[in-house]
Amino acid sequence: MKAIYGMTRAKLTDWVLEQGHKSYRAEQIWQWLYIKRVDSFQAMTNLPQDLLGQLEETFTFNPLKTIVVQQAEDKTTKFLFELEDKMLIETVLMYHNYGLSVCVTTQIGCDIGCKFCASGLIPKQRDLEAGEIMAQLMFIQRHLDQEGLDERVSHIVVMGIGEPFDNYDNVMDFIRIANDQKGLNIGARRITVSTSGLAPMIKKYAQEAIPTNLAVSLHAPNDQVRSYIMRINNKYPMSELFEAIYEYIDVTNRRVTFEYIMIDGVNDQPEHAQELADLIQPMKKLAYVNLIPYNPVAENPFRRSELEAIEEFFDILMQNDINCVVRREHGTEIDAACGQLRSQHMKEKRAKLSPQEREARRKARQEERQARRQARLAREDLAQ
Ligand code: SAH
Ligand code: SF4
Repeated sequence: MKAIYGMTRAKLTDWVLEQGHKSYRAEQIWQWLYIKRVDSFQAMTNLPQDLLGQLEETFTFNPLKTIVVQQAEDKTTKFLFELEDKMLIETVLMYHNYGLSVCVTTQIGCDIGCKFCASGLIPKQRDLEAGEIMAQLMFIQRHLDQEGLDERVSHIVVMGIGEPFDNYDNVMDFIRIANDQKGLNIGARRITVSTSGLAPMIKKYAQEAIPTNLAVSLHAPNDQVRSYIMRINNKYPMSELFEAIYEYIDVTNRRVTFEYIMIDGVNDQPEHAQELADLIQPMKKLAYVNLIPYNPVAENPFRRSELEAIEEFFDILMQNDINCVVRREHGTEIDAACGQLRSQHMKEKRAKLSPQEREARRKARQEERQARRQARLAREDLAQ
């Protein structure tokens, strides 16, 4: 049975009419679900018995069984849920200074198979239905309601396990339901979908009526490095990916976030930073780079970049006027990654250094870079 949480208000209204009831019954159900946020059909006390019966015959209320709830010191909370077919999924609640965000899972496993990703090790077993995605959010909102602190989930990141653009229709229904003004009313600008770069779907996403945000997992400044860690790059190489991103920007005039995980020795060299800066220079007003320290996965050889390398990378982007932050990990002790790391300006982190020390470091790096560039030019001269 499908979960009731997967019905958009339009679909629910159609269903209510089909069952021989007036459309205002759909509005009542919607209110119970998203305003009063009850936890069963039986709690919807103003509905007629026959409609309650029809609801119970057609839909499950809560398709999630809680297996584990873990809270970290920074209050990041990870929920491990079991679905009706016994599959396990993870959802993470994060506390930021700007609000509470939930990171949802969209698939069981993922077929994109990025080399550095734990989810990519498990082939996709199935897509989640819209109701299973929405139920993650509602479970957490009801959990917050029960704690009585009047806390509301304000942001959604579609960055849990799975490739959202490989489960497009369910993800879009989920967004319609979460964004519905008569329901949770989570603003479009507070919803971010992260893709590994399915170019045709980025173009489709650009045409959606709800102006949600796009994040692209770039992770490399050129095809060579990107194809090495993300095999999807063979299907949609960077030229095609950027053509789609430019179209997205043209159509929406909205900012694009580039996620860039920093992997030691793979994509974290100063040359990579310069190449990345050159790559996004033409769209820099609408581009934002999130540098993410890599979260090692036991099964692969990749390691996290040194802090120094991350700082230098960041500096080069800043010198090139590229908007950039370094994300700090969230709830590491409970292994909450799901690729989701809390933003924190590198500047804040480095605030401990005096301005003179910072300037000296910056200069030293600049000189080093110049020396490297000259060496490279000399090598190229020799090669000619
Ligand atoms: N499939 C989508 C969304 C889920 S992954 C995508 O790839 O964008 C969410 C983010 O976490 C992506 O940017 C992904 O590259 C990143 N990620 C995956 N494994 C990671 C790891 N071990 N450490 C840090 N980030 C990781
Ligand atoms: Fe799938 Fe995203 Fe992991 Fe790649 S990074 S394997 S697309 S979940």
